[in-house]
Amino acid sequence: MRFETLAIRAGQDPDPATNAVIVPIYQTSTFQQKSLDKFGTYEYSRSGNPTRAALETAIAALENGKYGLAYASGSAATVGVLQLLKPGDHIVAGQDLYGGTYRLLESVYKKIGIEITYANTYNISEFKKAFRKNTKMVWIESPTNPLLKVSDIAKIAEISKSHKALFVVDNTFLSPFFQKPLDLGADIIVHSTTKYIAGHSDIVGGAVVTSNEEAYTAMKFYQNAAGAVPGILDCWLTLRGLKTLAIRMKEHEANSVYLAQWLETHSKVKRVLYPGLPSHEHHEIAKKQQTGFGAVVSIFIDGGYEEVKRFCEKLKIFILAESLGGVESLVCYPVKMSHAVLSEEDRLKQGITPNLVRLSVGIENKEDLKEDLSQALG
Ligand SMILES: *Cc1c(COP(=O)(O)O)cnc(C)c1O
Repeated sequence: MRFETLAIRAGQDPDPATNAVIVPIYQTSTFQQKSLDKFGTYEYSRSGNPTRAALETAIAALENGKYGLAYASGSAATVGVLQLLKPGDHIVAGQDLYGGTYRLLESVYKKIGIEITYANTYNISEFKKAFRKNTKMVWIESPTNPLLKVSDIAKIAEISKSHKALFVVDNTFLSPFFQKPLDLGADIIVHSTTKYIAGHSDIVGGAVVTSNEEAYTAMKFYQNAAGAVPGILDCWLTLRGLKTLAIRMKEHEANSVYLAQWLETHSKVKRVLYPGLPSHEHHEIAKKQQTGFGAVVSIFIDGGYEEVKRFCEKLKIFILAESLGGVESLVCYPVKMSHAVLSEEDRLKQGITPNLVRLSVGIENKEDLKEDLSQALG
């Protein structure tokens, strides 16, 4: 089966108990046991639940992976993977990680003795220097937030393998529709399903996919032991969102390409960052390893904080809010929102200047979106 079919059918056969076409919401904490020594497939919903199992199977299928695990949030999924490390292990992480992942590494994992190096993943010879004898994991996002930098996943996979380090890719920004890191050599994929996978800004969730049985067994153990599992209704809503992932991503992207090209010609916009534009510094590698460019577009507005403030306040369709990946268009100001935890110096070092605005382009009518941006820029 191909992607669009898998999204609708993988793990989602009609319910064996009732023949319901749609996977039911098995809203139960526990399952009857046949006798003292006869256990069924399910015992207790922290350990496993049929609605969650359908979601885990479906996401794994979309990433071409063997095993899927669902979590209460993308951050819980991140923890589920980081728990594979033990004190004294070293992780090589990308320089511009999602703020919450950076916070976990710095404030939680450093404290328990995990060593971390933030490496330049865009320059392979520099990246290679970050490895140590105790490097056990490599963690990247591609494209990154909010500067949309793209790393060469196949190259990083090769180097990680030669050091016997597990290579993790946070694939939230593109979803499996536009990028399949396992096919490019990654070992583990992390998702915030809050974003494109569920796609409707109505749940918070996370997922992990891998084909590495040993890593899966360890993460499955931790998922049950720690219990950061999603609620059953959230699993069902995520499954419902997942079914339309392919058509949503196509529309998200078509709108993004249209707006990015137009914004690039706008006199009030100094620069547009979108990997789909030939002007983007990593356009070639994005074209090689992705099947699409996603729907996050960052712009540098001509002006400073005051101009940005006026722009954000004038927008009528783009909603000022954290997050991305929903059907509705959102605008985010990294300096005060997603990247507020960084010091000004660190922000500027990364290139997050006071005139940077991040757009999450939704699937509304593209002319409405253009008119909205146009009146707010004006
Ligand atoms: C949102 C996000 C996360 C965290 O996911 P939550 O569901 O908010 O916990 C991790 N990585 C990326 C790239 C994200 O955008």
